[in-house]
Amino acid sequence: MFILKGIDQLSRAIIKAKKIRPRVEFDRFGRYRVSGSKGYYTVVCRKDERGYKTVACTCKGAEKGLVCYHAVSALSLHIGLARQRQTT
Ligand SMILES: [Zn+2]
Repeated sequence: MFILKGIDQLSRAIIKAKKIRPRVEFDRFGRYRVSGSKGYYTVVCRKDERGYKTVACTCKGAEKGLVCYHAVSALSLHIGLARQRQTT
């Protein structure tokens, strides 16, 4: 799990995501399934009780607090959906 602070921390994972192009499946708002090397991982994007935007993924890298390409892939979908929600 990591706290989303800015785009800079995501840049490496974005490059990887663009190369790998994982499949992102919508589960519900804030919860997505992303294809990885060993099946699907679940990514949860939410605001914690302090108002921080957090992103959690079930893969090994994310367990160590790394920004993985699954999280970034889900996040791009999540941000788009969040924008739509605000404008409708
Ligand atoms: Zn991951």
